[in-house]
Amino acid sequence: MYPLYPQQQDLSAVMNLLNIKQHAARTLLIHHRWKMHCIYDHLDRKGRGRMLTEACIVLPENNSMSAAGSRTHPTRVTCNVCFEDLPITEASTMDCGHCFCNDCWTEHFFASINSGCKQIRCMEVNCKAICDEDMVRRLVDQKYPAASKRFSRLLLESYLEDNDSVKWCPSAPHCGRAIQVAAAGDERHSEVACPCGVAFCFSCTAPAHSPCPCPMWEKWEAKSHGDADSVKWILANTKSCPRCSKPIEKNGGCNLVQCKCGQCLCWLCGAPTGKEHTWERISGHSCNRYKEEEEEEAGDKPLSRSYAFAYYMFDGGGGEFEAHPAERASLAVARNLFEDQQQQLEHHVEHLSRMLAADVPEEVAVAKQDAVNLAKIVEAICGKMYRCIQDELLPLLVQPMSIPAYRPDGPDKAEEFVRA
Ligand SMILES: [Zn+2]
Ligand SMILES: [Zn+2]
Ligand SMILES: [Zn+2]
Ligand SMILES: [Zn+2]
Ligand SMILES: [Zn+2]
Ligand SMILES: [Zn+2]
Ligand SMILES: [Zn+2]
Repeated sequence: MYPLYPQQQDLSAVMNLLNIKQHAARTLLIHHRWKMHCIYDHLDRKGRGRMLTEACIVLPENNSMSAAGSRTHPTRVTCNVCFEDLPITEASTMDCGHCFCNDCWTEHFFASINSGCKQIRCMEVNCKAICDEDMVRRLVDQKYPAASKRFSRLLLESYLEDNDSVKWCPSAPHCGRAIQVAAAGDERHSEVACPCGVAFCFSCTAPAHSPCPCPMWEKWEAKSHGDADSVKWILANTKSCPRCSKPIEKNGGCNLVQCKCGQCLCWLCGAPTGKEHTWERISGHSCNRYKEEEEEEAGDKPLSRSYAFAYYMFDGGGGEFEAHPAERASLAVARNLFEDQQQQLEHHVEHLSRMLAADVPEEVAVAKQDAVNLAKIVEAICGKMYRCIQDELLPLLVQPMSIPAYRPDGPDKAEEFVRA
């Protein structure tokens, strides 16, 4: 069975708050994407009646037909779907007041569930009322018990899919977990790590990609891997050789390129690296293009992803992400600041990876302390670079976007929320 408790808590809160039935509470919660604070806010500003009407919720006390029906108490009704005349006990009336025979309702529910519908509407033409969940279960259970189970599963999925603070872990093969971020409000711009180990962007569910914003990362990933144009642009524009500043060219061979001055780089991402490498990997280096299984080093990933950001931010993407024309001067200033930070980061990440690769048994303790200090410096620069991107550069775009705050220890570990 599915752990429904968080969902049930929200439902009960709304049912008690507004004195409505479960399906009405669910409809309202889906309408507000399961944000309780939105519902309190709407209740305050609009009142109960208007809030419910806006979410297409019809309450039994508000429909004219049941009021009329209560006066006459008929014993027989005619179903307007099959035109059968039958005793009232074999028909059911929804909150909206529309009454059909139980057989017709059952077939309607069964077909809706089979098409994956979570919010089953009334059969009456143009009636937007959502059917009572208890009635759906009661009627479907009698004839199609499997469909009734599927309906419960659909309702859980709706809680996950329509809820902005909950996402399925994007791992493949799927680990079966859904992850919830606690913070209301800014949950869209954070990165989380599932207990299965997959770190992902909560906003777009791609593997963690900060400090590159989602829209830019999506474009970057859509490019064919090792796209020569973007790499050439990066090497020519944001980075020539980190040591001697001369542009670097690649003439076939593996993905390690070496400048005339001796500095080595990863051709795929442009980051400076050590010399040691095989055809598949460069020792101590991992980037989104050139994966190494080893533990990542501090600042390594933010650095390699910052090239993707720079590529689009500074017009390498052919103007897909335009800055305000009036902000040209600010852009030039901020770009200088950013490139300065990026260069410092390149320098220190390279230094750190050389330090960690070095064999100095007699000075191990000293070297370790140096590496710790250097890692701290790398973290501080990363933090500055993230803030520069978020505060100085992204606001200059015609279409502003956001990135998560820098987390030195990687994305927050998320609590397992639900397991399907
Ligand atoms: Zn009927
Ligand atoms: Zn209706
Ligand atoms: Zn997972
Ligand atoms: Zn993203
Ligand atoms: Zn050089
Ligand atoms: Zn080689
Ligand atoms: Zn690389």
